[in-house]
Amino acid sequence: MFYCPQCKKFYPEDAILWRCSCGSPFEYISNNRPYFPKKIISRRDNNIWRYLEAIPSIRKENIITLGEGMSPLIPVLFADNFNVLFKLDFIAPTLSFKDRGTSLLVSKLKENNIKEVIEDSSGNAGASLSAYCAYASIKCNIYVPAYTSIGKLLQIEMYGAKAIKVAGTREETSHATIEAANNSFYASHNWNPFFLEGIKTIAFEIWEQLNWKAPDNIIVPAGQGSLVLGCYQGFRELQAAGEIEKIPHIFAIQSANCAPLFEAFQKKFKKPAIIQKKETVAEGISSAFPVRGSKVLEAVRETNGKFLAVSENEIINSHREIAKKGIFIELTSAVAVAGLLKMIESNLINHSELTVTILTGSGLKSVKKNY
Ligand SMILES: *Cc1c(COP(=O)(O)O)cnc(C)c1O
Ligand SMILES: [Zn+2]
Repeated sequence: MFYCPQCKKFYPEDAILWRCSCGSPFEYISNNRPYFPKKIISRRDNNIWRYLEAIPSIRKENIITLGEGMSPLIPVLFADNFNVLFKLDFIAPTLSFKDRGTSLLVSKLKENNIKEVIEDSSGNAGASLSAYCAYASIKCNIYVPAYTSIGKLLQIEMYGAKAIKVAGTREETSHATIEAANNSFYASHNWNPFFLEGIKTIAFEIWEQLNWKAPDNIIVPAGQGSLVLGCYQGFRELQAAGEIEKIPHIFAIQSANCAPLFEAFQKKFKKPAIIQKKETVAEGISSAFPVRGSKVLEAVRETNGKFLAVSENEIINSHREIAKKGIFIELTSAVAVAGLLKMIESNLINHSELTVTILTGSGLKSVKKNY
């Protein structure tokens, strides 16, 4: 079922609506309590559908998977023998973690017999949706900001989707898309609740890869906050099922040039702060108005985590530093590394804790020389 937290109303989950009539995004409410048959899970295929009992049910013939999920979790040694685990979630069919959410979203489109969609994206979500729609034979139109990296644009067009460039900011791209949405289904990763249902599998996977254990801390980049919410929800479900005792502290990192959630967190606001956004090398998290912003703030607070903001210089330096350890990610993704280094420096985390940093996008995504 879909649930509107604003009107407290329920909608059937095959409703062809992208948001409630009041303007609020829907939440997904499952009829079943998630559970985790560990022995069976570990024998299943290496994709997000191995957690079948904890994600929305889709008829088998409608499941669209390109093998997303089960990305490596590897230790990396930093200064002072500081050992951190990195979840290489850019090792995915379209080279970003978004494939987890897209697999569920597109499976549901197939189940609802939808033949054509539109979406707005700064690149990775668009590339991901284009690929999964191609696999499912669904027509796909992606509105992208004109500044989108050539690598991401090429990827969208190679999959056979139509890319429509919109001049101006990321927000102007969204407005143009919503206007066009009158004629076909708006399959937005930021609005559609099935997307989050797929993203949350990253929490299950980290738990499985740590031998059915939760880490102490999780560090993620945050724009709209889908990874924050996905991690929060995933670990919450594991806790509710009695599989873990405690939810990890979630540390959400924003680019200082566009940090409405960080500012709200500092000022103890319940809603994202209204900001003057500046350009940032972290193009994938340049979101001034996160759709589920209040929820994202609430999730981080509830885990006793924190928001941090990192400068352009910190992002660029971290991008280099992590590449020198053999891991080539995109600048947006380096925001999490910058956050991690800042946290080590300021003693926000220590040696005895288990810390997982999630790396979200491949370095080959933005092929222009950025600095
Ligand atoms: C989408 C994206 C993010 C951030 O996800 P949000 O849901 O906007 O917080 C981070 N890194 C990369 C590479 C992305 O594509
Ligand atoms: Zn409503």
